[in-house]
Amino acid sequence: MTAPPYFTGWKWPFSSFFAAGRRWRNFGLLVYAFFYLTATFAVAVPGRWEVIRGDSIRVYFSPGRERLARQFLENAETSLKQISALLGLDYHGETYIFLANDESQWKAVLQDRIPDWSEGVTQPELGIVYLKLKGDRRSPLVVLKHELVHVLLGKHFSSGQLPRWFEEGLAMLVSGEELGGYASTLSRANLTGSLLSFDEVEQVLSFRRSKAQLAYAESFVAVKLLVESVGWGGIRDLLAVAAMRGSWDEALKTVLELDEKDLEWYVMRKIERSYRWDFLLQSEFVIWVVIPALAVIAFLAVRFRRIRTYRRWEEEEKQQDEGDESEEAAELS
Ligand SMILES: [Zn+2]
Repeated sequence: MTAPPYFTGWKWPFSSFFAAGRRWRNFGLLVYAFFYLTATFAVAVPGRWEVIRGDSIRVYFSPGRERLARQFLENAETSLKQISALLGLDYHGETYIFLANDESQWKAVLQDRIPDWSEGVTQPELGIVYLKLKGDRRSPLVVLKHELVHVLLGKHFSSGQLPRWFEEGLAMLVSGEELGGYASTLSRANLTGSLLSFDEVEQVLSFRRSKAQLAYAESFVAVKLLVESVGWGGIRDLLAVAAMRGSWDEALKTVLELDEKDLEWYVMRKIERSYRWDFLLQSEFVIWVVIPALAVIAFLAVRFRRIRTYRRWEEEEKQQDEGDESEEAAELS
């Protein structure tokens, strides 16, 4: 591959070629250009970068973060071996991991061309991973493992060859990602009839955070169901056939004897049956609805008991007064 013609100077050219509507592929090309043009690298990426190298992995980091970078390097080497064995896909080539130290470094490199909920970005066919060290939700090491699944798949499949629900669900399951509240996300979508089709999940990168969470939750459950049904051996078979024949549909037919529509129907029915009222246990719901409701009920119960007590006292006083009056009347008579 030759360096792209748009890399002509010190100017950071993201906006121009993202605007061309080829954002992910172009992003990868741009960073790829850095490896050819190492002299311009430090200037083109805002801030200073240092690098440590393993056998086939390089980790780029900001000055002062070498210990952390080494931890990422060791973790990446171990994770790639594990993922490779689990999925039956060999790892070859190189992986380049960039650690964005803070929000400004993250934004400076990726600008606003990726969703604001993203904490890791991978250009799979080039083996480039970009990680946000101070993510909102997940540990960066978990995000790293998730992204390395994309890297490994990218060594064997071209972009779009595997459906996104499968790639994302697989990356989540393999990385052991704690998808906080996925059951409540699914149950809410289930009750409001807003579950996404597999075709819609394909567009996840254009979704806002809550819709993306739903897409990831569905992907996670779909792959979890697949693994529960055919085991990791079945997943390895699916990937092997898909790689050999170059077709995901062929792999489904050969290994599972069904097509994606059948599989989607099965997954959706399973979600509809299994995730209905989970949102009731969601912490926000408990904090903002259940606890205030219980407090109101407790308050009303106390009030009601007091009113009944006052009334009983009034009744008793009344009866006592009537008793006194009749006693006085009896004495007078
Ligand atoms: Zn992913």
